[in-house]
Amino acid sequence: MTYGAGGDRPMYSATCSDCGAACEVPFQPKEGRPVYCRDCYKKHKPSRF
Ligand SMILES: [Zn+2]
Repeated sequence: MTYGAGGDRPMYSATCSDCGAACEVPFQPKEGRPVYCRDCYKKHKPSRF
């Protein structure tokens, strides 16, 4: 399934801090900050906004 078509933002390669899967994120990963793949991001997303 295709999602987010039409964007032209740079994607950065990263490794998910949870499952260790390779993923791409629309922001530059910083040292010391966890990066999550889409699935893990949903798991770690805080319940409140
Ligand atoms: Zn993950």
